[in-house]
Amino acid sequence: MLKKFLPNEHVKSVLDITPAKLKEMGIKGVITDLDNTLVAWNVKDATPEIINWFKEMKKYEIKVTIISNNDQERVSVFSEPLEAPYVYSARKPLIHAFKRAAKEMNLAKEDIVVIGDQLMTDVLGGNFAGFHTILVVPIVKTDGKITRLNRMMERRILNWMRKKGMITWED
Ligand SMILES: [Mg+2]
Repeated sequence: MLKKFLPNEHVKSVLDITPAKLKEMGIKGVITDLDNTLVAWNVKDATPEIINWFKEMKKYEIKVTIISNNDQERVSVFSEPLEAPYVYSARKPLIHAFKRAAKEMNLAKEDIVVIGDQLMTDVLGGNFAGFHTILVVPIVKTDGKITRLNRMMERRILNWMRKKGMITWED
């Protein structure tokens, strides 16, 4: 069960995940989290770097869908200027939103990577749904209220995995 919390890969930032690298892996689509993955949870709009990241993905014909547990207002205001499809109130780690995003991109799960900053929602849900999962370091150390509780559990799991030698990175 704890293995389901283990991402396939971990990188520092979403910006380290380049379309060239994804193409090489045979990936055609990305399902990404929003808060603390693309921008800090309390930042409303995409940064120039993130705008460029979306442009680059488009150039390489890699589809990107944003799925977030946050509400419609937050997710639509962020996603619409990027012309990125999105799912709000996604209730990750439940797999429904992941499946829906894959279906709307018209891609198989083998063609998609899931990116996110949380083990309890993004990685767990992505693994349950059968995707390749990539964990990123959260953009800021602070979190919204619900996330704080998840982080507490996450720290315990990470410590356990570290002790078992299952992970090698530091947070
Ligand atoms: Mg997040």
